[in-house]
This record gives sequence, C-alpha cells and structure tokens, in this order.
Amino acid sequence: VIEAGQPEHSVVTTCAYCGVGCSFKAEMQGERVIRMVPYKGGHANHGHACVKGRFAFGYATHQDRIREPMIRDAINDPWRTVSWDEAIEFAARRLRETQARYGRESIGGITSSRCTNEETYLVQKLIRAAFGNNNTDTCARVCHSPTGYGLKTTIGESAGTQTFDSVMKSDAIIVVGANPTDAHPVFASQMRRRLRQGARLIVIDPRRIDLLHTPHGGEAMHLALRPGTNVALINALSHVVVTEGLEDQAFIDQRCEPGAYQEWRAFIVEARNSPEATEAVTGVPATQVRQAARLFAEAGNGAIYYGLGVTEHSQGSTMVMGIANLAMATGNLGREGVGVNPLRGQNNVQGSCDMGSFPHEFPGYQHVADTRVHQNFEAEWGVTLDNEPGLRIPNMFDAAVAGHFKGLYVQGEDVAQSDPNIQHVEAALTALDCLIVQDIFLNETAKYAHVLLPGSTFLEKNGTFTNAERRINRVRRVMAPIAGLEDWEVTMALSNAMGYPMHYSHPSEIMAEIARLTPSFAGVSYNKLDRLGSIQWPCNDAHPEGTPTMHVHDFPIGKGHFAVTEYVASNEKTTRRYPLVLTTGRILTQYNVGAQTRRTNNSQWHPEDVLEIHPSDAELRGIRAGDWVGITSRVGQTVVRARISERMLPGVVYTTFHHPETGANVITTENSDWATNCPEYKVTAVQVEKVTQP
Ligand code: SF4
Repeated sequence: VIEAGQPEHSVVTTCAYCGVGCSFKAEMQGERVIRMVPYKGGHANHGHACVKGRFAFGYATHQDRIREPMIRDAINDPWRTVSWDEAIEFAARRLRETQARYGRESIGGITSSRCTNEETYLVQKLIRAAFGNNNTDTCARVCHSPTGYGLKTTIGESAGTQTFDSVMKSDAIIVVGANPTDAHPVFASQMRRRLRQGARLIVIDPRRIDLLHTPHGGEAMHLALRPGTNVALINALSHVVVTEGLEDQAFIDQRCEPGAYQEWRAFIVEARNSPEATEAVTGVPATQVRQAARLFAEAGNGAIYYGLGVTEHSQGSTMVMGIANLAMATGNLGREGVGVNPLRGQNNVQGSCDMGSFPHEFPGYQHVADTRVHQNFEAEWGVTLDNEPGLRIPNMFDAAVAGHFKGLYVQGEDVAQSDPNIQHVEAALTALDCLIVQDIFLNETAKYAHVLLPGSTFLEKNGTFTNAERRINRVRRVMAPIAGLEDWEVTMALSNAMGYPMHYSHPSEIMAEIARLTPSFAGVSYNKLDRLGSIQWPCNDAHPEGTPTMHVHDFPIGKGHFAVTEYVASNEKTTRRYPLVLTTGRILTQYNVGAQTRRTNNSQWHPEDVLEIHPSDAELRGIRAGDWVGITSRVGQTVVRARISERMLPGVVYTTFHHPETGANVITTENSDWATNCPEYKVTAVQVEKVTQP
C-alpha cells in the first residue's frame, strides 16, 4: 500500500526549461510523477531549482497533448486520425512528390532547442542524407545565432567559456542584455551570493532589472542605454580601457593576433568611440561609462554574462564580438572567475547548435564545404552529401512566399508564434504543399500543417541536453511516450520511409555516432555520463573528463582575434507616428511562447502579457495602470493591459510574448542581424494608445 505522496521510486533527469540545466529527481508512483525534487548531486544546480522546473511539469499529461498522428490533404480539410505507419508514409510521399515537382532544394526542416542532442542530430542527418540538401535550421536562429558567429570569429569556439560555479571567483560582473532572475533563476541566485560577498555589478540594459535590487557587498551600476545602441556602448567601454592604459598588455601580447589587435586598437581609440562622443547615441552619461570601464578593468577577475538583449539586434554578432574584444583587452579569459558567457534561453540551445542544425555546419561547427569533414560524414553515413550551405529559416519563408520552397518538417518549434512578423510567416506556411509538424500540442504552426505527428516530452524519452556552460546532462525516460514513440524514433521512421535507412535501438547509439564524427564530443558516452554525472565539452583524449574552463593556454584558432566593431544604427527608427521603442522579454513563471507553462498552475501568476510603460509616457497618453492599450508598429498591432513602471526608461516600453492571444510578434519587424539573420526583436518603433477592451 502506497501512502499518498510517497514515491515508489525516482529517476534523475534534467529540467526541460532554461539553459541552466538543473538536475531533478522525478519521484514516481508507477508511471506517474508525483513531484520533481531538485537533485543535490546536480552539477549545474547543486540541489536548487526554480518555480518552472519544480512545479511546471504537469503539461506532460495535459489533456491537450496530441495523442495520435493526423493527416489532411489541404489545410482547410478536417484532420483524419491515422496510424503511425500511415502518417509517416503520407508525409514521406508528399515530401518525395514535392521534390519531384520542385526540385531537391524545395524542402527542408527546422529543429528545436527544446529537443535532445540526439533528436537534433537525427533531424539534421535526415535533411542532409535523406532530403539531400542542407536546408536545416534551428530555433537558435532567432536567439543565439550571433553568439555562434561572434565567438567563433574572435575566440574560436561558439560557447560560453566557464562553469556557472566560476562566478563565485568573479570580482566584477557585467550583465548585459540579460535578466537572470527571471530567465535563469538558479544561476541568478548563485550570482547574487557572489554579489553579497562583495563582487561589483555593472548592468547594461534599458530596464532596471531585479539583480540591481540585490543587497550588494560591492558597488552596483546601471548603464541604462537606449535599445539598439549596445555596440556604441561596448566600444566606449573598450575606448576607456585602451586610452587610460587599463589593458592587460601581457595577455594581449601572448594570446592575441598582433595585426588584428593593432587594427582594432587604432579603431577603438578614435574620438568617435569615446564615452563623451557616444553619450548622445546611448543616453548613458560619459562619467558613468568611464567609471564602469575602470571598475571592470581594475577588478582582479572580470566576467561578462549576456543574453538575448545582446543577440536579438541588427548588430547582434557585432556586439558579441565587442564583448569578446573587451574580455581580451582586459585579460579576462582562460581562468576561473572571468570569461564570456552567453546565457542560453532554452534548455538545449547550446546543444542544438553543437549538433549541426545550422545550414552551413555539420555537428561540432564543422563547415559543410570543408573537404576533409565532408568526406568523414559521407563515409560514416554512406551517402553523397551536398557541400553548399542551405537555407536559413527566414530564407525558407522568403522562398516559400516566392513559390520555390514547398515542403517543411518542423520538430518542436512554433514558428507561427515565435518568429518575427507573423503575417509573413503565415503567408509562407500557407504557400507550402507539405508541412509536417511534430509537437506535443496543437500549436499555432500546426494550423497550417498537413501532417501532425505527436511529440514526446522530456519525461518520455532518453537523451541528453547541453546547458549554457557546455555541460552535457542525461535526460532519462520516466514514463512511456503518450503516443507510443519518442521523437528520435519518429525522425528515424520518416528517414526510412524517405529511402535513407536509419537503424538505432537507443539514443546511446546516436551519441556514439556523434562522438565518432564530432571532435569536441569524441570522449562522450552514456557510460561516462552515468559515471561522472555530467560532462562539459570538449571531451576528448586531451580532456577525457571534459573541460570546465576553456581557452586556458590558447584558443582553438590559436591566437585571439580582435574584431573591428563599427556601430551602425538600427534601421528601425522612431518617428512622430511611432515615437516609442518596444523591447521584449520573459517573466519568471512563464517560458517562451508559454505552450508548456500555460498548461500548468504557473499561469495563475502571469495570466496575460502586459505592457510596461514609464509614468511620463503613460501620463502623456492618459494611460493608467490596468488600462487596455493598443501597441502599433509598422507591421501590425496588438492589445494588452498597461503596467506603469519606473523600471522603464522614458521612451521605451516592454512586453513579454508568453500568450498567443497577445502575439507580441505580430508587431516585431523583419529587421535582423547582418551576419546571421537573428531577428531584431529588441527594437521595434511603436505607438501606444489607450483603447477600449478588445
Ligand atoms: Fe529549470 Fe532553469 Fe529553473 Fe533550473 S533555473 S529549474 S533549468 S527553469
């Protein structure tokens, strides 16, 4: 007899929400999870957890789950419930017919940073080997693709340099474009502990984030810049470091390319990059910038943590390079307490990038045009592969609207809610002859689908996630998949039906193949993960148990490469008609587009998206707290309630994007990062007006 609340057994697994990657014990009665207990042995969380991971797991058994495959000939037809075999055969036949009519390049696929490494690896393999092209992309396109470009260009590896624990040795911490207390709560707690011990804090953000309210042992500064001016500000900080002789010359001489450094130095000392010259652009007083630069450069260990407020800009990649420049100039790389650390939003953003989801890279960031790499993959996969980079997500949508991209396989990603300029996305999805959606719920994208394949949650599958500190954690199945198949099995079945055979019996076999093809994963195996608990890549002969701190002796590209980071203003300008700048973000209790958290009790804490507006902007418009307001941009309009907030700068408004009814991305534009097409979600010129209830 089991007493109520007493577990029969427990399984250690990994949270499926944010990039902290907390370990949990799923306590079970039979196949029912009765609670998620933070796991003390978890290397990322040490027994801590937040309100999402701990309480928001009920979506796994929610009544809205898709439980059976469905198909339809046209998007206005009713769905027909069919067997797995019939659905897979229908999907494969439509994809083959599409390619026969429109060509090999007319189809592609998108995978998700919520899926496991093994699932993501299989999707890109399906596309490259079975579809015969490189039209593969991931939702990391719309969040951290600039991290990939910016860090690879400057320090040679598209990943954070530290462990989370490293922050406990930091003396000065820059947090730029990130709100860790809401988006990465467990790591934020660790950072707060260090701040209470006396570390100095510099927040670079248009909003006054909660971290600034932490009781500090040391100094805390808020550089409240105008959205879209990150690059001008990071250049000004570096300008002070260089012109005031605060550089770490020994580090620069030993670790960095002299030619690139000299070119960057000549650029950064120009008067137009000074705090005084950039003040009119950023809105941050020059005295504050000088003080912050000194505070950071003169600290023993300076660490930089950043989020989507860095990447989701037209200069996202430039800003990532600017951050790396500042770290190299001050010698803050290659030891504990320092580093450049992207805070990844979703649980497996790092992994989805590592696993070759991008159209130009095989797993391990190996370029598809590299002959040696190409031959390795052809030999292992037994197929001839394309060596031309394929289409990115926005290119796929443009090509669909233009009529020459006709088939799309989307695994675990709701592009019709999460991508910018939804009207354009919907036009693209409507133009497809074959849209296959594999997901756990009937999401917005599924409204345009011809095939609906039930997905599995993290509780229903085996695999691995890689967190923001490159830590590979095991995901362990605690209950049977609700529709009978794990996601990797569905992809494998589709590949087999498309004529490219795959024969795996367990995700550990997929990981073994990843290790054979990916130098940074060469030493990773499920046995080793079970023995060590987790592994931070690179894991290979040189680092058989993984690498907590990167770039200790050199960079993967040899010497660090300073990059010239010219500031270019966003194309998105405020005008008399659109006088305010809208920026977007998340809240603690909800997660991204809310597909999971809105189906749990977490919704009672944040039942709707609201618009934060400064009192002066609200007063000008006769807006009071709780009023309904219309937000209008050049591309669309939405209606939410207003919250009057002094956290905002005058002229800047803020909302979240957790609720499809609100659809914040109806108003975001198609402006994007020059290098990677990451959307400029953080800068949209808008008008805000009081309206009657919608
Ligand atoms: Fe999950 Fe992130 Fe919360 Fe940890 S901090 S429990 S990984 S959502």
